[in-house]
Amino acid sequence: MTKLNWGMIGGGAGSQIGPTHRISAGLDGHFLLCAGAFDIDPDRGKAFAGSLGVSADRAYGDWREMLAAESARDDRLDLVTIATPNATHYEISRAFLEAGFNVLCEKPLTMTANEAREIVEITKESGKVCAVNYGYSGYPLVRQMRAMIANGDLGKIRLIKAEFAHGFHADAEEADNPRVRWRYDPAQAGTSAVFADAGIHAFHMACFVSGQTPTELSADFASLVGDRQLEDDAMINFHFNGGAVCRLWTSAVAVGRMHGLTLQVFGEKGGLSWQQQHPEQLHWTPLNGRTQILERGDSDLSEQAVRASRIPIGHAEGMPVAFANIYMDLADVLNAQRTGAKPDPMALDFPQAEDGYWSMRAIEAAASSAKANGAWTKL
Ligand code: NAD
Repeated sequence: MTKLNWGMIGGGAGSQIGPTHRISAGLDGHFLLCAGAFDIDPDRGKAFAGSLGVSADRAYGDWREMLAAESARDDRLDLVTIATPNATHYEISRAFLEAGFNVLCEKPLTMTANEAREIVEITKESGKVCAVNYGYSGYPLVRQMRAMIANGDLGKIRLIKAEFAHGFHADAEEADNPRVRWRYDPAQAGTSAVFADAGIHAFHMACFVSGQTPTELSADFASLVGDRQLEDDAMINFHFNGGAVCRLWTSAVAVGRMHGLTLQVFGEKGGLSWQQQHPEQLHWTPLNGRTQILERGDSDLSEQAVRASRIPIGHAEGMPVAFANIYMDLADVLNAQRTGAKPDPMALDFPQAEDGYWSMRAIEAAASSAKANGAWTKL
């Protein structure tokens, strides 16, 4: 298999998520990092590109310069990852899709549902791929949950409990720290803070494993620290189109909670429980039966979970491997795009522009419901 040419925008030196992308994309050896506009500061971005082994003629100071130069090359990029701050995602994704590139955009895909709908339409017209990095859906045991639910092991899904509650913005003394403050500033963060930033992963996971989408929601937003204009805690109830009720709690003030992403699904025939901080075990309780622990690496897991698992049972894999599964799916789809072959159907599980669109709809509906004292709001 020839390597796929890969470029990055954002994710420069010292960024939070840039290194995870580079580790994940490199894991299986499918992608070669050959171009990038890594930083808001052009000189720093070019110097960083050099340190990553990107040749000087493909180290760009600005994404527009990168778009123009890369569009003219014969050895075009097969994939462009966008790991810049949220407010830039729409403009950059749109420009690269319209120029015929495949895109993996960090979440959130856009700042509004209308922009996300446009990206969905542009993606369809372009025939290219637009993935959104809801990377936690790449965990093998999350894919196991999805496979078990699709297989009917739980029967009809009655209830989903999703949480992404951490405690890292709980210190009132820290509220003015610029890295914290912008997240609660409507001008920079939009209509929601902790739901849009953290809870949205739990929302995507609930939809991903259940195969359902929401029809309506009722939200209670609270700002519990200082004079924050946006919520630092939220409880949202959803009704899903397959009949499931979903209860989602997200918080940034839950002192003592670390990453805090958990997912429980309860059906007529049994229940599943998974925690991101202990991703190697999935708890499965059949109705009237004992709880069993399914281990990542067990040989009798679903083919989706086996495909997503890299190292032997009993050795922790973790988040970069989960993200690597998104890149593995994309490599499969992009190689099929190159050769005209059909991709492995299991590779189509990666989060797509439609998922980004549903997230933006949920954020807007939750913000409007919270303003109306939790009124049930249609999606
Ligand atoms: P960060 O501030 O740590 O890093 C952003 C990087 O982008 C910096 O290197 C900056 O110089 C660069 N940059 C900014 N504007 C740019 C521009 N116009 N052109 C080129 N480079 C530019 O941010 P972060 O925490 O790494 O977050 C980046 C994105 O990733 C955000 O959208 C965030 O929501 C998302 N994120 C996703 C996850 C996840 O689990 N999927 C986790 C963390 C962050």
